[in-house]
Amino acid sequence: MGGVGLPELIVLLVVIVVVVASIWLSVKILKKAGYSPWWAVTMLVPLVNIIFVYVFAFSKWPALASAGSAITCPYCSASIPAQALKCQHCGEWITRQNAGEITPAG
Ligand SMILES: [Zn+2]
Repeated sequence: MGGVGLPELIVLLVVIVVVVASIWLSVKILKKAGYSPWWAVTMLVPLVNIIFVYVFAFSKWPALASAGSAITCPYCSASIPAQALKCQHCGEWITRQNAGEITPAG
């Protein structure tokens, strides 16, 4: 007896799916945060991945640093990125007559 049976193959398949999914999600998150997607490779290394997630959680993300401050939509009062042209919550177009001032689109 012994060897590789169907249960082992199913477990192996599940592990592969979970690993691929976590790498794929890591790449998406890293891109959003402004980091190189290659950092997702660290997810394959035990212990290193835990350290990386810890460092990632408390580091300043490049994407957020370049995004600047948030402004308040004059239509729905939601917080939106300062450089947004259109409110992501209510869909209204945002125009600026000068820096820091928000006026409704004509
Ligand atoms: Zn809005």
